[in-house]
Amino acid sequence: MGKLYLVATPIGNLGDMSPRAVETLKSAGLIAAEDTRNSIRLLNHFGIRVPLTSYHEYNRIEKAHELVDVMLGGTDVALITDAGMPAISDPGEDLVRMAAEAGIGISIVPGPCAAVSALAISGLPTGRFVFEGFLPTDRKAREERLGAIKDETRTIIMYEAPHRLLRTLKLLGEYLGAGRRISLVRELTKIHEEAVLTTIGGAIASCEASEPRGEYVLVIEGRSKDELIADARRRWEEMTVTEHVDMYISEGMDKMDAMKKAAADRGVGKRDIYKEYNAKA
Ligand code: SAM
Repeated sequence: MGKLYLVATPIGNLGDMSPRAVETLKSAGLIAAEDTRNSIRLLNHFGIRVPLTSYHEYNRIEKAHELVDVMLGGTDVALITDAGMPAISDPGEDLVRMAAEAGIGISIVPGPCAAVSALAISGLPTGRFVFEGFLPTDRKAREERLGAIKDETRTIIMYEAPHRLLRTLKLLGEYLGAGRRISLVRELTKIHEEAVLTTIGGAIASCEASEPRGEYVLVIEGRSKDELIADARRRWEEMTVTEHVDMYISEGMDKMDAMKKAAADRGVGKRDIYKEYNAKA
């Protein structure tokens, strides 16, 4: 049985192509590439002459079936994308799942990935982070996603195209606040590589002053826990004891736990909460 090799390729600097990536591609029976015209230049540069086939967003399921058959028939397949790590905001995820389900061995040849490289250079906390990829293009889905990340306390990593950057920054300002810190990371591994640590408001001003060009990753500081607690406290202060306890019950807590939690939140004794809640119930 053949194997599937996921091979990372450079995100701008050909010097980042690893020797193992070149060897793996040379010894594959077939290379599946997101855009064959684009990949042919990379393959020629490294003297790799292996049959190429296209594997992209629009044929990702039916082509994956074909590639699985090819591997079951004994041929090693290497998957590459236009740049960076396959399966990360790029085709690959379905092929990997289907290969795994068919019992095919899968091997990784790691290398450049814009998300992790941007996080490392951002100047923001790296200990805990979430990757959001591109925001959805559909307006409702986009707003839902922004609502969901509003209170995220981990560092948030996003991809964005330059022509949508200003619009996205304005939405981030609306949902996360203009004062939130952000690192605008651009053109990694290329001549104009930079990571500008600023605020969302500052990033908006600089994109309005000069049109964004090149490839961008946005690395956004998570919401501070103190702010979250202060927000929750403000909400409780506006609630009656009954509303406060009912909020936890509606989130799935049983009545006793909900009363204990409300007492702890309000810094009062459990008896006071029991008395008031049960009197109104
Ligand atoms: N799979 C790729 C990876 O692992 O990096 C990401 C592919 S995704 C379709 C392309 C996006 O990645 C771009 O729109 C940009 O947000 C980001 N990107 C790719 N190369 C970059 C670079 N050299 N500098 C900054 N961002 C980059």
